[in-house]
Amino acid sequence: MKIILMGPPGSGKGTQASYIASFAGVNSVSSGDLFRDNLARDTELGRLAKTYMDQGKYVPDNVTIDMVMSWIEAPANKEGFVLDGFPRTLMQAEALDDRLSELGGVDKVILFNVPEVELVKRLSGRILCRKCQMPFHKEFSPPKNDGECDKCGGELFQRDDDTEVVVRKRLKVYTEETDPVVDWYRKTTNIVEIDGSQEIRDVEASLNEALR
Ligand code: ADP
Ligand code: ADP
Ligand code: ZN
Repeated sequence: MKIILMGPPGSGKGTQASYIASFAGVNSVSSGDLFRDNLARDTELGRLAKTYMDQGKYVPDNVTIDMVMSWIEAPANKEGFVLDGFPRTLMQAEALDDRLSELGGVDKVILFNVPEVELVKRLSGRILCRKCQMPFHKEFSPPKNDGECDKCGGELFQRDDDTEVVVRKRLKVYTEETDPVVDWYRKTTNIVEIDGSQEIRDVEASLNEALR
């Protein structure tokens, strides 16, 4: 199974990625997490990405494509995967399409629809695990123990780019750059649209149905 998760920042991609991956028996990856991992290790790619991420802009296509393609090339991921947050531009979508042309293409594109007011509330209260990247929310999905990840016990932190000004910018960039990718998938693939504004468990139930 080769699955792509799409939806604006805060629509629940990261929250559902590991659920979908275990359902499909494959690994998941978030391009944003790969950039943050590079940043934590202070690599050249991490330092470059930070200059864009801090402003809510997309990291240039060439470096983003190379980074995600090398993840896909890994033997453990070749047969199937869940991509969270990639592709976000038409150039990225074309690169992925080329790469997958001999592997039967993408099996499913899942799109989470959530109204903008809700997205802003979600992102401003988001906290995530430094170790396993699991997202929580101060109000909507609080961890069992304050400041501690339910899954791995890691420390929870707030992202530098989850401030209202940067969030608005990211939503604008999504509309400009990624809406056309969604339209393209609507025409060319099997796209499933999920009402991402439901409770987390109900989103899971909708996914169950969509993936069956
Ligand atoms: P994305 O990966 O699409 O940016 P996340 O999965 O990180 O989105 O979710 C953004 C925030 O919203 C997180 O704080 C998460 O806990 C919360 N969240 C995710 N899904 C829901 C939901 N269905 N209802 C309420 N809050 C949610
Ligand atoms: P969210 O889903 O909440 O927008 P991510 O963690 O997926 O956040 O991404 C954080 C940042 O990483 C983005 O604002 C962007 O700068 C960069 N990024 C992630 N994925 C991509 C991508 N596919 N193309 C370009 N930039 C990306
Ligand atoms: Zn964790």
